[in-house]
Amino acid sequence: MGGQSKGHTIIPSASLIPENDPTVLFTTAGMHPLVPYLLGEKHAGGKRVTSCQKCVRTDDIDEVGDATHHTFFEMLGNWSFNDYFKEEAIKMSWEFLTSKNCLGLDPKRLAVSVFMGDADAPFDQESFDLWKKLGVPEKRIAKLPKKNNWWGPAGQTGPCGPDTEMFYWVGDSDKVPESFNDDNVLWVEIWNDVFMQYNKKAEGVYEPLKQKNVDTGMGLERTLAVLNGFDDNYQTELFWPIILKVEEISGREYIENKDITKSMRVIADHIRSAVMIMGDDMGVGPSNTDQGYVVRRLIRRAIRHGRTLGIKENFCPEIAEEVIQIFADVYPEVERNRQFVITEIAKEESKFRNTLEEGIKKFEELKLKIEDFKISGINVFDLYQSFGFPLEMTIELAKEKGLQVDVDGFEEEMKKHQELSRAGAEQKFKGGLADTSEISTKYHTATHLLLAALNKVLGEGIYQRGSNITTERLRFDFNWPEKLTAEQIKAVEDLVNEKIKADLQVVMTEMPKDSALKEVKVSFDPSKYPDMVKVYKIGEFSVELCGGPHVEYIGVLGKFTIIKEEASSSGVRRIKAILE
Ligand code: ATP
Ligand code: MG
Repeated sequence: MGGQSKGHTIIPSASLIPENDPTVLFTTAGMHPLVPYLLGEKHAGGKRVTSCQKCVRTDDIDEVGDATHHTFFEMLGNWSFNDYFKEEAIKMSWEFLTSKNCLGLDPKRLAVSVFMGDADAPFDQESFDLWKKLGVPEKRIAKLPKKNNWWGPAGQTGPCGPDTEMFYWVGDSDKVPESFNDDNVLWVEIWNDVFMQYNKKAEGVYEPLKQKNVDTGMGLERTLAVLNGFDDNYQTELFWPIILKVEEISGREYIENKDITKSMRVIADHIRSAVMIMGDDMGVGPSNTDQGYVVRRLIRRAIRHGRTLGIKENFCPEIAEEVIQIFADVYPEVERNRQFVITEIAKEESKFRNTLEEGIKKFEELKLKIEDFKISGINVFDLYQSFGFPLEMTIELAKEKGLQVDVDGFEEEMKKHQELSRAGAEQKFKGGLADTSEISTKYHTATHLLLAALNKVLGEGIYQRGSNITTERLRFDFNWPEKLTAEQIKAVEDLVNEKIKADLQVVMTEMPKDSALKEVKVSFDPSKYPDMVKVYKIGEFSVELCGGPHVEYIGVLGKFTIIKEEASSSGVRRIKAILE
């Protein structure tokens, strides 16, 4: 973006899956990977940086179907780490939006909002005055409360501050209202400048920050739509080839009616997200936990909407190919991981198709039986457990029929079930069947063993470059320039199996990051770890910083086999391994 000309260093998008941050599943904004620098750490790019960041917001899933919200989207942004502040930021924003050399948007279609002030912090007069000076009419500068124009850790402590948001009128050009009203959906928020100027303390006091930062975020899809004169992000080149594919497969038309449009948007959005999550270098395939479960829900919901369009055959891989084509140039990792993405999506679709029709039949039966318009928790759980219907899918199906779902009841059933499967996992030691989370835990521990073994066999200096676990296998990326020989692979396997046989104990100690870093070499930027870290030691063989979980004794891992060794990217190899 135009930021480079203003002395900003362009930085690459970070992974969609935050490295070593177990508190969130996905990167949700451009600022997310930059938190350490907003808190004062020095960035190698200097005090001004700019990026285009891959983001996933699962919280927005219910909005998907409208013209402007996606689960995956790209966020443009520029940052000042204690460099420029409001004046320069607002001037640069205006220039970028309106200058003919940049976006060249018509100023008459723009409006902004600023923080109105409350008991904690005053009205943001400075931003208000700056916009006015740039020529924005007062009626187009809304003063809004914290709910709209404030950024900060909700209810917690830390840096925070007012923001100013920029909106574009996507309605008819001769109908631009004189004043701005944020309830009107034709005013679309395209950009947002956050001014971090306060530190919220535990007592609820807002004290001015020494380091003042600017954090901005602009949605690429919305901006592109606006530049093209569209009021619908799906008509931009970022989505249109996907929509055309859905039209072709379903034989329906995008503009046929509201429901058809919505289903097509959901399919395009969800498959796009699933592909980007799976195609990330830290990519994750469908599973029942964490990011994997998000991928599963996205794919299954897309399939269900495909059914609404009358699609009976598997179609997701074809849509995924379109997505890969769109992104291959910009995010080469998606192309690199093509095979994994397509295979996983095809597998997931076949698996779900096996139960979808039966599940729908079951739902229809339920619908006839219930009297109080509410589907009970146990029935919702049955749809989940026996037919693989994610909760929100049942809610959506129910809503379409004017019914409700007992969500609390479902969660209770879920809890009961989890307790049961924990009991099941404990029985594993007595030879019972393991549940899925138990399997993932084993793969986590096996991943540590693998890294330690690689360091022994190939020589010290091997680091993790990516890791991904499903219930079926582990996948591990590491720095190594060439193909491993058959002997090296065998040596790694043997070493891991030898340690498993020795049934080493896994010991976890929690300690401050600084002391941990003295004894443990880490694979990631040390600044990305929290202040308190968990150190996992497996006998004297392996020591790593990790969020867990891990098994207690490694004897339970069984037999470790490397099933694949391949290139992941230049200088990076990828191993897939299984436990049997
Ligand atoms: P909205 O109120 O429209 O949901 P937001 O306040 O959640 O937007 P921010 O968190 O300020 O948005 O994100 C910065 C920018 O990212 C927004 O101005 C918008 O252009 C874009 N954006 C936010 N959420 C989405 C989404 N779900 N899909 C596409 N773009 C988005
Ligand atoms: Mg939002």
